[in-house]
Amino acid sequence: MINTLKRFKGGITASHHKKTSEFETVKIPLPSRVVIPMLQHIGAPCTPLVKKGDSVLVGQKIGDSDSMISAPVHSSVSGVVTDVRPMLYPGGFEVVSAEIEPDGQQKPDDSVVPVKAADREGIIKKIRESGIVGLGGAGFPTSVKLSPPPGKKLDTLIINGAECEPYITSDYREMMENSRRVLEGARILMELTQIPEAYIGIESNKPKAIQRLSELAREFNGIKVVSLPSRYPQGGEKQLIYAVTGRKVPAGGLPSHIGVLVHNVNTVSNIAEYISTGMPLIKKRVTVEGSAVAKPMNLEVLIGTSLKDVFEFCGGFKEKPAKIIMGGPMMGVAQFSLDNPVVKHTNALLALTDKEANTAREGVCIRCGKCVSACPMGLMPLYISANVELGRVEETLKYHLNDCIECGCCSYVCPASRYLVQSIRYAKAELKRRQTLKAGGGN
Ligand code: SF4
Ligand code: SF4
Repeated sequence: MINTLKRFKGGITASHHKKTSEFETVKIPLPSRVVIPMLQHIGAPCTPLVKKGDSVLVGQKIGDSDSMISAPVHSSVSGVVTDVRPMLYPGGFEVVSAEIEPDGQQKPDDSVVPVKAADREGIIKKIRESGIVGLGGAGFPTSVKLSPPPGKKLDTLIINGAECEPYITSDYREMMENSRRVLEGARILMELTQIPEAYIGIESNKPKAIQRLSELAREFNGIKVVSLPSRYPQGGEKQLIYAVTGRKVPAGGLPSHIGVLVHNVNTVSNIAEYISTGMPLIKKRVTVEGSAVAKPMNLEVLIGTSLKDVFEFCGGFKEKPAKIIMGGPMMGVAQFSLDNPVVKHTNALLALTDKEANTAREGVCIRCGKCVSACPMGLMPLYISANVELGRVEETLKYHLNDCIECGCCSYVCPASRYLVQSIRYAKAELKRRQTLKAGGGN
């Protein structure tokens, strides 16, 4: 284990609230219905490969796309497709989804066999078939990340085990329950990418994971464990790269531009599992937490299970939640329906009470500058927000809107409870919409 390192500017010290850290993962029973959206990743949506009335098996591919940036989706159950139509997605919009009624047999598809491929290209193609995407929350197709742009040489692999968001412990449980698989996944990626050195970055508030992986890493050539300061957003890709290597990703650039490849611990562990079993991504570990939840837990949930089924398994709510969030309190997305399904990037479901959710009304900016000091990207959130408020969305580009990583630090520290990160997300979406219209798309 090596000790670190470079400390990024800005950020916050938030309470960790990781009381589920030592809660072992429990498997949730088969639900009576799953909903599998055709878009659970960054990139093009899949086209359904099944229709109403079709029988499906566990791990069967039920959606795919010809687009380079996309990832197929698979059935998490064996059963019958009862509908294929646009359904509400956790992001708040509709996505074409397949609704499946399980038959209780959980019979695997014939395609589910251990992966055998002779060469690098063959294995990367297989990883694409697994449907694995960035499981830290980003959802970027993993196979695309394994093929860096031509001319870009990678020399450092970083496995992200920082898990800096409050409440979430799903990465921590992976490191504790499947330690060897995490290292095996890192080894597979090193071999595939010909990267000689890998670092597993873990925040110092997880000493048991640091110790366990450090001990096991001695059996693997070139893999080291790095203890990172516990400071949010230490797990942000740019902040993590800076801490471990001292290199800075240029504005608008990618980690590959500075020779670095970053993958989440759950992603690499899932790759190792897929190579040895051939079972694509059909389940997720989800931390269920928040003061409104009767029994906080870490659960293994089949993708497509409704939030209602998940919360019911945890004993329901002991008081009415003021807010339900998919993901962490800093970067997660508020949920407006418990019918929404667990998807590939769901790593936590939080049911927060009014006190926890901090639903204070937005006040007037007092120009204190706290949001500027907290921003780990060196931005001026108050000016971005002020321009959005005045309807000058294009102006926000002058304040480097697209460099914002939506970490939420600015909103967290603002004494006036300004909706800073919300206005940034709005500006990004609005600019994207205008761009699509300009290109002749959309309506
Ligand atoms: S402006 Fe963006 S990057 Fe900066 S603190 Fe706010 S959310 Fe984070
Ligand atoms: S922290 Fe809030 S009140 Fe202070 S300058 Fe930023 S937006 Fe204004």
